[in-house]
Amino acid sequence: MTSIKTYTSQALVLKYFPYKEADLILTVFTKQHGKLQAIAKGARKPQSKFSGHVEPLTVINIQLARGRSIETVTQVQTNKAYPTLYKDLNKLAHGIYISELIDQFTPEKEPNKQIFDAGIDILDFISNSPEPELKIRNFEFQILKFSGFLPELFVCVKCGQEIVAGEHRYSVSNGGVICLGCSDISNTMDMSLASIKLLRYFNRHSTAGESQLRIKETTYTEVRNLLLETIIFWLEKDLKSSQFIDHLKTIQTPLTKL
Ligand SMILES: [Zn+2]
Repeated sequence: MTSIKTYTSQALVLKYFPYKEADLILTVFTKQHGKLQAIAKGARKPQSKFSGHVEPLTVINIQLARGRSIETVTQVQTNKAYPTLYKDLNKLAHGIYISELIDQFTPEKEPNKQIFDAGIDILDFISNSPEPELKIRNFEFQILKFSGFLPELFVCVKCGQEIVAGEHRYSVSNGGVICLGCSDISNTMDMSLASIKLLRYFNRHSTAGESQLRIKETTYTEVRNLLLETIIFWLEKDLKSSQFIDHLKTIQTPLTKL
């Protein structure tokens, strides 16, 4: 007889921290039950049945027992691991950034299958592609969209008039495109026509297709800044892993110039 106190789910391990002598407290984003914390008892013992299955950025099948304050992990099987992420510091930094975005944007115990599927999709891509940056920008857009923070891309966020091509800026605090008549230069960001087109493309295509796009470096940089400022605004904080990726770039760039 199956106990009604246990349940199973597919899950992505977001992070863990040590607890007591040999336990781990995991933060997992489950497909069916949303983000939750669970204790894996004895997981730090070498012979633990959990060993190797609860590393961050691993997709697992997890069985959990309901607890009063925290769930207890009763069984874990690895569904998909990403060994290539752990062999490349850049890939690992991108992967951790994805897990931090998911952790920050998802409330506890609220399932969001769109974010779950997009998260697995982007981790697959980072793992396999030498240039995942544009698709990571698309994931940033998708997590805003699937969390209810979709930037407005068609009408002015202040006056509601349809945006005229080339006559627009971007207002982070107002949530999207703003016409030149309503925009205050000091409180809004530059937004080229190419940038608005790229974001509209992201809005139509949640996965795949980016490899065919030809994007100018200036457009990429502008879109990256627009999305990052939007994320920081809604989360009310900067992400540590995003700063780390920037730091990696600054320490790697000079090496190529030596
Ligand atoms: Zn306006």
